[in-house]
Amino acid sequence: MPGQPKPTPMTPGAAPRALIAGGSIAGLFTAALLHRQGWEVDVLERSPRSLESQGAGLVQQADLVRALRALGVANIGQLGVTAFERVVLDRSGNFLDRDRTHQTQHAWDSLYRVLRQQVPEARYHLGASVTAVDQDDASVSVTLADGRQFSGDLLIAADGTLSTVRRLLAPASLPTYAGYVAWRGVIPENELTALAAADLAGRFAFFRYPGSHILGYLIPGPKGETEAGNRRYNWVWYRPAPAGNAIESLLTDRDGRRHDISMPAQGLNPAAKKEMQSAAVEHLPPSFLDAVLATDAPFVQAIQDLEAPRMAYGRVALVGDAASVVRPHTAMGIDKAAGDAFFLAQALDDAGNTGDRVASALAAWEPERLTRARAIGAHGRRLGAALEPGPTAGF
Ligand SMILES: Cc1cc2nc3c(=O)[nH]c(=O)nc-3n(C[C@H](O)[C@H](O)[C@H](O)COP(=O)(O)OP(=O)(O)OC[C@H]3O[C@@H](n4cnc5c(N)ncnc54)[C@H](O)[C@@H]3O)c2cc1C
Repeated sequence: MPGQPKPTPMTPGAAPRALIAGGSIAGLFTAALLHRQGWEVDVLERSPRSLESQGAGLVQQADLVRALRALGVANIGQLGVTAFERVVLDRSGNFLDRDRTHQTQHAWDSLYRVLRQQVPEARYHLGASVTAVDQDDASVSVTLADGRQFSGDLLIAADGTLSTVRRLLAPASLPTYAGYVAWRGVIPENELTALAAADLAGRFAFFRYPGSHILGYLIPGPKGETEAGNRRYNWVWYRPAPAGNAIESLLTDRDGRRHDISMPAQGLNPAAKKEMQSAAVEHLPPSFLDAVLATDAPFVQAIQDLEAPRMAYGRVALVGDAASVVRPHTAMGIDKAAGDAFFLAQALDDAGNTGDRVASALAAWEPERLTRARAIGAHGRRLGAALEPGPTAGF
């Protein structure tokens, strides 16, 4: 039920209660921060299995650090791997440009583990798929696919790009496909060839050609290892895949099932992988080519744009990708999710233990986060414009 809630008669003395739909990065940040502030939280994650073994690399940015600090996580930089310079390669693998900017990268799985430890195990419900939302002046409740119901003072929609909650509250707000994909791969550092290790390891490296580019950097190992030899190399290669046959075949798995946004490695059609490897031989400098060919399990992510018109709907707050999806060139999808959670927790704290706490907190939180999401979204569309199909894209 859209609209602002009226003052809430929260039970005096009882801890406020938040329901969190989605137990990935945005959901975990919000749950962990609110739990720390004394809220009771229930994280409702659709996946029947822990998400721990998934994911690739991410770049450390300010709001990620801010939110982790608020959770008492110390030495955040040391949890990641710091590149000592940024380089741009030419087709032969020579450095065209070098910039001694340091930048720290993390592994999605390590971040997920750190955040899971901050939420009581019994409050993280796997196999909990939210299908319906109901709210009134006093509370909000959700119904799961298996019929269970949960209710609380606030619902956080952290259920990603195809958010069920957003589709219930703002059905017209759907992601649009940008016309290109990111091929992604992660390999153990010690499986890089000597050439790739010498040129790429320790650097944040780029190579561009018309209508495409690839970049890569080291991230921690599967258990969070940061020492040389045990880290992983993460690469991201943006390639055209115009709407229609090209994207349909990339997102349709070996069993003929169409995936919505990304194709996990295990489902990837062998012909698509072969085509990508041939294109790597044709286009990439030797070091990147070695890294790509050494990757057993590349996966594909279709690049999407989305901006929900609102982030607050009565007692429901949309955070992370459920609220807006920004292109990966910004390296800010996770940072934005962390910022949404951090500032929401802060607004709820600032609102104190008053009856209309949820209403006043969401009213204070929403405008700045919408502005921030739109700015990052526009930045990403600018960075990706040359990759979109069209007369100027060069493919
Ligand atoms: C497994 C995984 C690996 C990722 N790896 C990377 C990476 O390596 N690098 C990177 O930059 N970004 C990665 N991302 C994306 C990144 O997490 C997001 O772009 C960003 O952090 C915002 O996250 P989010 O929590 O808003 O959305 P998401 O990470 O997409 O999470 C949404 C969660 O909601 C759950 N969900 C969906 N519908 C429902 C429902 N109806 N009920 C309950 N739960 C639901 C999903 O199962 C999912 O866990 C990954 C996402 C996932 C899920």
